[in-house]
Amino acid sequence: MAIFLCKGCNHTQEVDNKHINKKAKCPKCEYIVTVYDTVPVLKNILKRYHELNFKLKDTENKLTKIENLNNDIIKNNSIHDIDIHNTKSLMHKERYLPIVKWFKDQNIKVKFTTESIDTTGFFDEVALLLGDNYSLF
Ligand SMILES: [Zn+2]
Repeated sequence: MAIFLCKGCNHTQEVDNKHINKKAKCPKCEYIVTVYDTVPVLKNILKRYHELNFKLKDTENKLTKIENLNNDIIKNNSIHDIDIHNTKSLMHKERYLPIVKWFKDQNIKVKFTTESIDTTGFFDEVALLLGDNYSLF
């Protein structure tokens, strides 16, 4: 059997082999398409399906690895191992949500910006140096 596969409305139907490689008008939307032998069409669809399925599995694996890596970072990075003056670790919601909750429990409204709890960078080190040597000033 041959297949009529409309590119205009996705109407699909089997047609007699005598229509293979001929143009035909879609009975639903009147779009003109070429009729093909069913087996090569099916092979192309399956090939594309397997390619997309492979990409999907690959993407799911990458996503799982990223999620596992994030969880490992959070698990293995206990609060005692953090250099509080030079870390982005506080930006994980698992770290700062208890603080947000504490403020909420105290009926204190706070606006939280995760960027402000990134303590990496030059200025924190300068502030520490200044703080440690405050008596000099
Ligand atoms: Zn159609």
